[in-house]
Amino acid sequence: MRETTDILISGGGVAGLTAACALGSAGFRVICVDPAPPITESDAHGADLRTTAFLQPSIPVLQGAGLWSRLEPHAAPLQVMRIIDAGGENPEARLIKDFDAADISDEPFGWNLPNWLLRREMVARLSGLSNVGFRPGVGFTRMLTRDTEALVTLSDGTQVSAKLVIGADGRTSPVREALGIAARTTRYGQKALAFAVTHAIPHHNVSTEVHRSGGPFTLVPLPDRDGRPASAVVWMESGPEVARLASLPVSAFESEMTTRSSGILGHLTLVSRRSVWPIISQIADRLSGPRTVLMAEAAHVVPPIGAQGLNMSLADLASLLDLVRTHSADPGVPAVTEAFHRARHLEVRGRVTGIDLLNRASMAGSPVLRDLRAKALDALYSASPIRHSLMRAGLGAGGKSATSTRD
Ligand SMILES: Cc1cc2nc3c(=O)[nH]c(=O)nc-3n(C[C@H](O)[C@H](O)[C@H](O)COP(=O)(O)OP(=O)(O)OC[C@H]3O[C@@H](n4cnc5c(N)ncnc54)[C@H](O)[C@@H]3O)c2cc1C
Repeated sequence: MRETTDILISGGGVAGLTAACALGSAGFRVICVDPAPPITESDAHGADLRTTAFLQPSIPVLQGAGLWSRLEPHAAPLQVMRIIDAGGENPEARLIKDFDAADISDEPFGWNLPNWLLRREMVARLSGLSNVGFRPGVGFTRMLTRDTEALVTLSDGTQVSAKLVIGADGRTSPVREALGIAARTTRYGQKALAFAVTHAIPHHNVSTEVHRSGGPFTLVPLPDRDGRPASAVVWMESGPEVARLASLPVSAFESEMTTRSSGILGHLTLVSRRSVWPIISQIADRLSGPRTVLMAEAAHVVPPIGAQGLNMSLADLASLLDLVRTHSADPGVPAVTEAFHRARHLEVRGRVTGIDLLNRASMAGSPVLRDLRAKALDALYSASPIRHSLMRAGLGAGGKSATSTRD
């Protein structure tokens, strides 16, 4: 059986689901496939316990996708980004730098939401879009591209003729492989632990990165949990150290993480499972092929620093939406696919390189390197023009002019 559609999305992770909501809301006929059905409850086995901090420029994309009004009630605002260097002899804060969003915008930097909840709201939104078919349990297997169409074979044997194929199928992207596009990968021997904590001291909407060695320890605000202030934590360390931490009894783990946090929020209490994520940097050599574009982790992967990963993916989507809207009769023409590559590749490469450098600086283990890092942090973040440019680079847009409207 052969079906036709405007756009076939391979991958129903957070990026692919957002793309399906956005392109469906823009009026395109969309099919989104993923062999792994989304897990939409926090306590279910295999639930994605990470959170995503959506930065300001991502909000209009979520509004256009009809998602923000569903997500906003569950989001914790991030008003201040705090960087702490704790690289001295003891793990105490020896340098604290604050970036207050109020310096450059009327809005917070961003809003933090659990990934399992994102999936739940995205799947609910898709069920209201009659022009979008979401097919969990079915995967992309192969593709043949012609001048006028891409002919995709799915794992259930269905053939789909699509004008445009979007590879949003993760870091080992089968679509990228089908196109024969290589990717450059950097491995750090590092992993991340992601989990949730409650604490006695309120976070006051401050997101904090504590640097010592092995990688950053990041606390991102969540709404209160059982009446107590709560935060999501991402703790990066070498692979063996993460394995040791993940298997510690809870009380020993709580004691180690409270020390590693420099005690800034008081005693940290573990309130979720500890999930482990491998850390790499990766960028595809090209972001498009005939009748195809690559987005999100199929195109780029970065260590979780500065909340860049999914926000870069939503910038991919914003760029793609602009292009397909001007070619709505045939969204897969080279004027879309090649322009998408040109619009995104350089920008993505810059961010992947920048985050790679930040990660290497944060991993520094020797006291000499850690002192150097503290000096560099101090110099960089004390000069207000540099600080403001860095804040804007984090936002990915032009500060006050980038204030968003709400849907
Ligand atoms: C610890 C941690 C914290 C993070 N925090 C943030 C943050 O605060 N802010 C931020 O912006 N980013 C953050 N990120 C990055 C963000 O989580 C990722 O960018 C995002 O989850 C990746 O989404 P994705 O949809 O591209 O990939 P994935 O979630 O990997 O989705 C890919 C999908 O493709 C599917 N697939 C595989 N094979 C096929 C096939 N044959 N056919 C169809 N589908 C297929 C898979 O089943 C999967 O569902 C963080 C990352 C980590 C590791």
